[in-house]
Amino acid sequence: MKNKLKESISTLKGIGDETETLLNDVGIVTIEDLLEYFPYRYEDYQLRDLENVKHDERVTVEGKIHSEPSLTYFGKKRSRLTIRVLIGRYLITAVCFNRPYYKSRLVLGSTVTITGKWDKHRQTITVQEITFGPHQKSTDLEPVYSVKGKLTVKGIRKFIALALKEFQEEVVENIPEHLRIQYKLLPRKEALKTMHLPLEPNDLKQARRRFVYEEFLLFQLKMQALRKIQREQSHGISHQFSDSKLEEFVYTLPFPLTTAQKRVVNEITADLKSPYRMNRLLQGDVGSGKTVVAAISLYAAILSGYQGALMVPTEILAEQHAESLFQLFANVDVKIALLSSSVKGKKRRHLLEELENQSIDILVGTHALIQDEVNFNKLGLVITDEQHRFGVGQRKVLREKGENPDVLFMTATPIPRTLAITAFGEMDVSIIDELPAGRKAIETYWVKPNMLDRILHFIEKELKQGRQAYVICPLIEESEKLDYQNAIDVHSTLTYFYKDRFSVGLMHGRLSSDEKEQVMREFSENQLGLLVSTTVVEVGVNVPNATVMVIYDAERFGLSQLHQLRGRVGRGDAQSYCILLADPKSETGKERMTIMTETNDGFVLSERDLELRGPGDFFGKKQSGMPVFKVADMVHDYRALEVARNDAATLINSAAFWEEDIYQNLREYLSNSGILDGGKLD
Ligand code: ADP
Ligand code: MG
Repeated sequence: MKNKLKESISTLKGIGDETETLLNDVGIVTIEDLLEYFPYRYEDYQLRDLENVKHDERVTVEGKIHSEPSLTYFGKKRSRLTIRVLIGRYLITAVCFNRPYYKSRLVLGSTVTITGKWDKHRQTITVQEITFGPHQKSTDLEPVYSVKGKLTVKGIRKFIALALKEFQEEVVENIPEHLRIQYKLLPRKEALKTMHLPLEPNDLKQARRRFVYEEFLLFQLKMQALRKIQREQSHGISHQFSDSKLEEFVYTLPFPLTTAQKRVVNEITADLKSPYRMNRLLQGDVGSGKTVVAAISLYAAILSGYQGALMVPTEILAEQHAESLFQLFANVDVKIALLSSSVKGKKRRHLLEELENQSIDILVGTHALIQDEVNFNKLGLVITDEQHRFGVGQRKVLREKGENPDVLFMTATPIPRTLAITAFGEMDVSIIDELPAGRKAIETYWVKPNMLDRILHFIEKELKQGRQAYVICPLIEESEKLDYQNAIDVHSTLTYFYKDRFSVGLMHGRLSSDEKEQVMREFSENQLGLLVSTTVVEVGVNVPNATVMVIYDAERFGLSQLHQLRGRVGRGDAQSYCILLADPKSETGKERMTIMTETNDGFVLSERDLELRGPGDFFGKKQSGMPVFKVADMVHDYRALEVARNDAATLINSAAFWEEDIYQNLREYLSNSGILDGGKLD
C-alpha cells in the first residue's frame, strides 16, 4: 500500500513546475513535507482590551465609527485617513495611510475591525488591516510560514489548505494508541490541521504538545533501536581477564577508588567482557579521576591479550597522559609509548614496529594515532579523551584500526541530561559524580575590575609561597571593535608590575604549536610564576602547583567554559582560588557570575548554562550532531523528552514492538531511516 502523502507536491492542483521549484527550495518535496511545514509563529487577531496592550504592540480591536472620517492628501498619491472609533469605553483615533478609497465605506455608526500598531501615548492605532464589520472569529490566529524567494506566506497557506482538503484523510497515526490515550494527545490528523488553522490558542497548545511528543518519541526510537542493534549485532570482543588480577592492580594504585570510580569501572569491565562492542561515554567533572578509570580499563584489555589506544586532542595532553600512565603502571609489566609529532625518523619506525609486533601495550597520542602507517597487532580498546573535540570521522577511523575494538569516550564537559540523551542517545553513559575525598573546594570570587590592584597583591602573596597563577583574557591583542582585555597588553602590564620578582609567560592561539608547548612546559616546570593566556589552556592541562585563576571580562564566557577554566586550579593539595573580573551589564551576565560563586558542581552549571544559552550554543560549532526538531524544544520541553525516552526504551525492548502489526509503521519508519540495517548515525 503506497502512502499518497509520499507523492510529489506536483500532484496538487495549482502547483506547476515553477511553484514546485520554489517549494523544493524550502525543503518541501512531498505532500507530507508540505503538511508538516509548520508555521513558525501566528498572527494574533484575537480581540483584546486596549488597557492590556503595550505601547507599539500590534492589536486587533472592534469598534464603532464615532464621527465622519477626515481625509488629507499630501501630493497626489499620499494620503491620510483619520477616523474616530469608539471601542467599549475608549474613544481612539485610527489613521490609515494611502487608502483614500476606504472613506466611503466608513459609515458613521457602523462596526469595523481594525488591526494595527497601538500608540499608547497618542491613543492611536496605525491601521494595517480593516474589516468592515464585526470581528470574524475564524481568523483569530493566522499562521506565518518562513518563505524564500518568490514564495509568499499567502501562497503557502493556500497550498496547505488545498493539501489538507485533499489529503487529510490519508494522515496516519504514528504514536501507539495506548500512549496517545495515556497522555491525552490529539490524533495526528486533527493535530496537523490545528497546527495550520488553529481556532483557539488552547487548541494550538494541544496540537503542539502532540507533535513535541511525537518528535521526541520518533527520535528516541531511532536512538534506542540503534543502540540495541549495535549492541546485539556488533561482533565485539569478549575480553577474557581474571578479576582478581585486575583487583591486584587496583590495589597497587596510590589511592583507593571513590565509590563512583568503582561503579563506572564495573560498568566498563562488564562491557569489555560482553560479546557486544562497547560504545560508552564516560562523563566526569574536571579532577574527578577519569585517567585512573582509563588505566584500569586498558589494563583489563591488556590482561585479555589486546592492545589499547588513548587519543587526546593536544600534544601537551598526550604527554601528560602518558606520564600519568607511567606512574599508574609503575608496578606492573605494561609497555606504554607516546606517539607525537616530535617522534621522528628511526625512533618512529622503531615505535611503529613495536606496535605491530605488540611489544607496545598502550599507545598514547593525538590524532597522529589515526594515520595510515600506524598499525596495531591486536587493538582491543580505544579511549578518547575530551571526545567532543574530535570529529565523528576521526573517532571512526581510530575504531577501525582494530577489529571492532571496544570504545570509551571520556569528557570533562558535563553535558546536561537532556543534551546527553539527544546528542549521545545511542551510547551508554557512565558518570563519575563524586570527587576524591579531601579535595579542597576552589573558592570563587566575583569582583569588579576596579579591584585589580588588590588582586595583583593577592596573586603576589600566593606566588611568594611558591604557587603559580593563570590570568585569562578574552582577546589576543587589542581590538577596535571589542572593548575587552587582551593577552598581549595584560602580559606587558603584569611583566612590568611583577618586574624582577616573578616571570610572566604568554600563550595564545596564534603561537605555533612548538611555541605553545615551550611556554606550557616552562609553566609546568615552574619557571614561570604567571601565565597570561587566552582560553587555549582550557583543555585538560594539569599543573597542580597553580592555585590562582584570574579571568578577565569573565562575563564574556559561558558557564561551562568558566568552569573548565576554573578546573585548571585546585588540582593539588593547596587551597585554590578563582577570581572573576567582571562588570556585566545584563541580568543574565550577573546571574552567571553569581552562579559561579555559588557552586563548583559542573553538572549543576551545565544545566544552568543550557537554560541561559540554549542548546544551539552549548556545544559550539558543528560537531555536536544535534538533531533538529520542528516543534519541540529540548530545553523547554525536557519533561516530554524524558517521558518519550522511557517510552521508546520500553517499546524497543518489548517483543511486541518487533512482531505486532500495530507497530508496522514505526518499524517501517526505522527501516526507512536506515537504522535497521546496521545504523547510520556514525
Ligand atoms: P580528570 O577526571 O579531570 O581527568 P584526573 O584523572 O586527572 O582527573 O585526576 C585528577 C587527580 O586526582 C589526579 O592527580 C589523580 O591522581 C587524583 N585521583 C584520581 N582518583 C583519585 C582517588 N580515588 N583518590 C585520590 N586521588 C585521586
Ligand atoms: Mg583528564
